[in-house]
Amino acid sequence: MKNYLVTIGLEVHVQLKTQSKMFCGCPVEYGAEPNTHTCPVCLGMPGALPVMNHQALKMTALTGLMLGCTIPTVCKFDRKNYFYPDMPKNYQISQYDLPLCLGGGVPLHQQAFPKDVQKEVAEPDRVIPLTRIHLEEDVAKSFHFDGSSGIDFNRAGTPLMEIVSDPEIHSPEEAFAYLTSLKQILHYGNVSDADMEKGQMRADCNISVRPEGQEQLGTKIEIKNMNTISGVRQALAYEIERQIAALERGEKLLQETRRWDDDAGQTFLMRVKETDADYRYFPDPDLLPVHTEAIVDEVRPLVPELPIQKRKRFIEQYSVSPYDAGVLADDLPLAAYFEKAAAGASKPKQVANWVLNDLPNLLSSAALTIQECPIAPEHLQELVNVIEEGKISGKQGKEVFAEMFTSGKTAGAIIEEKGLKQVSDVGAIEALCAQAIAANPKAVAEYKAGKLASINFLKGQVMKLSKGKANPGLAGEILERQLAAI
Ligand SMILES: [Zn+2]
Repeated sequence: MKNYLVTIGLEVHVQLKTQSKMFCGCPVEYGAEPNTHTCPVCLGMPGALPVMNHQALKMTALTGLMLGCTIPTVCKFDRKNYFYPDMPKNYQISQYDLPLCLGGGVPLHQQAFPKDVQKEVAEPDRVIPLTRIHLEEDVAKSFHFDGSSGIDFNRAGTPLMEIVSDPEIHSPEEAFAYLTSLKQILHYGNVSDADMEKGQMRADCNISVRPEGQEQLGTKIEIKNMNTISGVRQALAYEIERQIAALERGEKLLQETRRWDDDAGQTFLMRVKETDADYRYFPDPDLLPVHTEAIVDEVRPLVPELPIQKRKRFIEQYSVSPYDAGVLADDLPLAAYFEKAAAGASKPKQVANWVLNDLPNLLSSAALTIQECPIAPEHLQELVNVIEEGKISGKQGKEVFAEMFTSGKTAGAIIEEKGLKQVSDVGAIEALCAQAIAANPKAVAEYKAGKLASINFLKGQVMKLSKGKANPGLAGEILERQLAAI
């Protein structure tokens, strides 16, 4: 069998988090009673006039700036003509030759890849170039029942941003990472919840394969309307195998649109693809071209610190490992919690350990989110500091931490209540060390004869005498000093 090259491009539709629809004042609300958020404009009544949603333009421009796009000074809206029951005016308002954003790219990173391949990714930090981002209106949603169909127009006219990548994605795993990373960036900009289950982010995948050495791209096949990231990975893997097998059998592939069936684990033919020309795009005569300079000036200050920058800063500022920085930056509320706790901590890296290892277990068993965490970030910081100062041991720290979670009390209050304070009083520990040395002449003799590990036994005796409260580090130092003087 020959070697095959895989070419993938993604078109991602993202519902923007605006209050109202793209060209009318109807509210955007997920899960409302069908056909309760409609008006003549979004129902496509003849003669109804669209009015542009400024907020949607701003959010798209912000996305463009976050992804490093160029924003041309003028963009315009066009009519994309086709017939479908979910779009009664027989055209969708979209952007054709003058979209809002051009170029840019989506940066990948190691943890954006599926867990099972993260360690083997050859180029985890690739940036997948974008062709364009344009703004359009969503269509209504069809429902099919036994013997009848229904259409809900609540979704009709919802602002939809389409992010189109160059065909530069080389594997199903890269497509997975692209969508994961893109979703994070959309969250950072607060432009969309991008919840795929709610249809707020949907992907169309274009995929072709060609034998190595062939210059010309293979036949492009589109998989429509994918609504999970793992589904995209599976569907693309399935298509690669299907297409290669067909070519190996000497069959010719047709340019077609397919759909993925999650349960069957297969793609199925929907239709042979129309080309762009079939849509007969022309400028919408009801909408003037948009001059973008003022919009860009308005949103430039809103560009947030991006995930890639946050990861880098966490590594530099708080000395956390690249892996931990990645996990923290993946989750904005978690990152915010960490940062509040780490800001004044003597060892911010320890804060990351608590936040990433101990906290998630407690939160999930109590079915709480990080925003509902009963331990205030400042209180976690206090706990980390008292452990670092040697006031309590790490083991006691775990106990205090669990108690903080259930009671909401501060570490200081719990340590006080339980009398957990480590003894760091040099005089008191010196006395205990002397007592341990006097009571264990055998261990002392072994130590003096060169068996240095015997000091651990003596240290254990000191801890026992102090009922576990002696500062172990200090006890070790004092023992060494006292033994040297014998
Ligand atoms: Zn409306």
